[in-house]
This record gives sequence, C-alpha cells and structure tokens, in this order.
Amino acid sequence: MTDTDPPHNCPLCPRLVAFRHEARHLHPDWHNAPVPNWGDTAARLIIVGLAPGLKGANRTGRPFTGDYAGDLLYATLRKTGLAAGEYEQRPDDTLRLKGVLIANAVRCVPPENKPTTDEIKTCRPFLMATIAATRPLAYLALGRIAHDSLLVALGEKRARYAFGHGAEHQLSGGGALFDSYHCSRYNTNTGVLTTAMFEDVVGRAAAFIASDRSVERIERIWRSRRGRNGSGAPGRRRQRRPP
Ligand code: SF4
Repeated sequence: MTDTDPPHNCPLCPRLVAFRHEARHLHPDWHNAPVPNWGDTAARLIIVGLAPGLKGANRTGRPFTGDYAGDLLYATLRKTGLAAGEYEQRPDDTLRLKGVLIANAVRCVPPENKPTTDEIKTCRPFLMATIAATRPLAYLALGRIAHDSLLVALGEKRARYAFGHGAEHQLSGGGALFDSYHCSRYNTNTGVLTTAMFEDVVGRAAAFIASDRSVERIERIWRSRRGRNGSGAPGRRRQRRPP
C-alpha cells in the first residue's frame, strides 16, 4: 500500500527529479524534496493545493509556508478557527492546524508551477493514501487541478462536479467538496480572488465540518456500505468535536 507521503528522493517523475536536483545545487539549504502533508491526522477537512511553490513550500518543507499563498491561507484558517498560534512563514513557528490536513496534488515543485498531466497522475496515489488514512468529512480544493485530481482519487465522475469558485458539491461517496480559486499572489493581484471571496469559502467549509448533520449523514453512508458489501469497510476511526 502506498504511504501517505512520498520518500525524500522519490524518483517517479524524471522532469521534477531533475528540477529538484537543480534546486539542490543552487540552494543547498532549501528543502528541495517532496513536501509531506501537514496538519491534523484526525482531520475533518483536507485542503488540497496544486504543488509546492519554489520559494515557498519547496524552500521550507511545509505546505503553503514561506510565500504569499500561505499568508492568505493561514490568516484565513486562523480567522475561521481552523488554526491557532502564530504563522511566521517558517515550519518551526507556533502555528497549529485544528481539524485540518493540508496536502498537494503534486508533491514536488514543478517548473513554472505547472505539473504535467502525467505528473499529476503519478503523484495521485499519495493523495489517495492520504484520503484513505484520514477519511475526512469534507475537502477544499484550491484550483481546478486540485479539484480534478481529488475527484479521480475519490473515484467520483469528474463530469458530475464542475469546478467553480464557491461551488459546494455533495459527493456520491459521502462528504462535501468545496471549490476555491487558488490563493496565489497572481490570483489576488489580478482580482480573480479577493480575501473576502476566500474567507467565504473557507468559512462555509469550517461550518460544514462543525455541523453534526454532516457527521450523521456521512456515518449513515458508511454504515449502509458496510451493510451492502459486508466487507467491513471501515467508518471513521475517530469522531471528535470540532475545534
Ligand atoms: S511529484 Fe510525486 S510522484 Fe512525482 S517525483 Fe514528486 S513525489 Fe514522486
């Protein structure tokens, strides 16, 4: 079974391996390796980004840490009660996520922030393993690539769930998928995404995972699956009150 995180020297995408090696040569003090998930392993919400930024997560080794996208993401998570502590753009700050796990569709930094279709597909088993290990109530996809890769990882039909900022999808397999434009500097500088727009989506995802109704509905789905296939497919291992 695939681990939730790739090995430090994952060899599976030759182009990204070469880019990593180049970055190691230029910046030997940077992380320059696949960036592991970060957050609460008993999370009710998985946030999925695209890939590490060259000078952000690829440099610091923690998702969304060290560049503008993290400034907006973590400020919003703190505001909605999904994070606590201080975010200081470095992995040894006091920031802690509450009920949230952050992953990327692609774990290695791609040139120009653009992974290929093959690279997204090759890295997807790590996302699938993350989902299987976490079994959240909801997902927040940051951008269309994260949205599409999540749907494939979940075994859902992509055509049934069109990506759109602010869209909320009830997944046939249980749980909800919230969509947002990626919180990149480019999107905010061009007005594609405002702070208010982003806070609205994250706030709705936070309200959803805090709702007892969402827990009951998803447990019902898992119970009915166990009854149908008799496989003993596991339900949530942990049920905790939201933070
Ligand atoms: S992107 Fe994923 S699959 Fe490809 S080399 Fe990096 S960790 Fe491995």
